[in-house]
Amino acid sequence: MLENKEPKKTSLEALGEFGLIDHLTQSFQLRQPSSLQGVGDDAAVLDFGGKKTVVSTDMLVEGVHFDLAYVPLKHLGYKSVMVNLSDIYAMNAVATQITISIAISNRFPLEAIEEFYEGVALACKLYNVDLVGGDTTSSTRGMIISVTALGAADEDALVYRHGAKPNDLLVVSGDLGGAYMGLQVLEREKEVFKVNPNSQPDLEPYAYIVERQLKPEARKDIVALLKNLEVQPTAMIDISDGLSSEILHLCKNSKVGCNVYEDKIPLDPMVISSCEEFQLDSTLVAMSGGEDYELLFTIDQREFPKIKGNPNLTVVGHMTEASEGAFLISRNNSKIPITAQGWNSFDQA
Ligand code: ADP
Ligand code: MG
Repeated sequence: MLENKEPKKTSLEALGEFGLIDHLTQSFQLRQPSSLQGVGDDAAVLDFGGKKTVVSTDMLVEGVHFDLAYVPLKHLGYKSVMVNLSDIYAMNAVATQITISIAISNRFPLEAIEEFYEGVALACKLYNVDLVGGDTTSSTRGMIISVTALGAADEDALVYRHGAKPNDLLVVSGDLGGAYMGLQVLEREKEVFKVNPNSQPDLEPYAYIVERQLKPEARKDIVALLKNLEVQPTAMIDISDGLSSEILHLCKNSKVGCNVYEDKIPLDPMVISSCEEFQLDSTLVAMSGGEDYELLFTIDQREFPKIKGNPNLTVVGHMTEASEGAFLISRNNSKIPITAQGWNSFDQA
């Protein structure tokens, strides 16, 4: 049967700011013992006992960080949380709470904001974090989201961007380039849709990379895995801007250089095939695509047996003396300097 009903659209004005906040937050329960007071007072109250607190904030702006033409609001809510949890995990900490602030124009009906919060609620549930506050305001156009994530860790468990030493191994979780290739597919479908609004995109063959773009997962499991394996990274960062710029952050903060081997970079077969289809260099995509939200860390060489053969972890290179610089060693064994934009294949050493 054909459904021809317009989706329900309740205007935000009808609810008012406080009605909206209540409506959006009433179903959130507190799960963490460290959350003493959540939403509903002038401030949240948290107690981390003897642990150190980690805090991270990110802002997402419509038209800059996301395009509602192809990003479902539920996915956006989920991803907004993931982006922030990823930073907490990159400190080797346990994420415990988030606050969410949103600015929305009145072109959004209540149902749209509800969808966004469904994604937030799912993320909170799956990652065991509490929504403990936020702010709600109007914008003249578009949507702006700011998420703050909090977490806790024992002082000696925390891992910073500094701490990597020459000869440490450089390790990455998961695989790279998927989020960027998913974006290429979605952008292409958007153009097709502009020309023919009746077209139904078939994203099924691209499921993995589209999911990497729309519904990334922060690597909570890697923090747990490292703890389990009794591996204490010497430095760590999450890969939000692409492998090369994150490697350079580690190098700069740790005052070391590095050699990264092109043939070691983990790529999903779908990233390789879509790169062929879009005529893009898969190494370049992995190095500078971004938004993969994997963890990049360094370990002492003696720790190698503990991670050897683990399907979640790939050694992509090793650190060197700072004076040696940061290089990608290509498949044909040439040394290419790593730059923040990726790497410059015309600038071979
Ligand atoms: P204030 O006047 O102190 O800014 P608000 O009326 O904005 O307080 O917020 C009331 C409560 O609701 C606070 O606990 C605040 O953290 C929470 N809150 C407000 N907006 C949101 C939101 N979008 N998501 C989650 N919690 C929110
Ligand atoms: Mg407020």
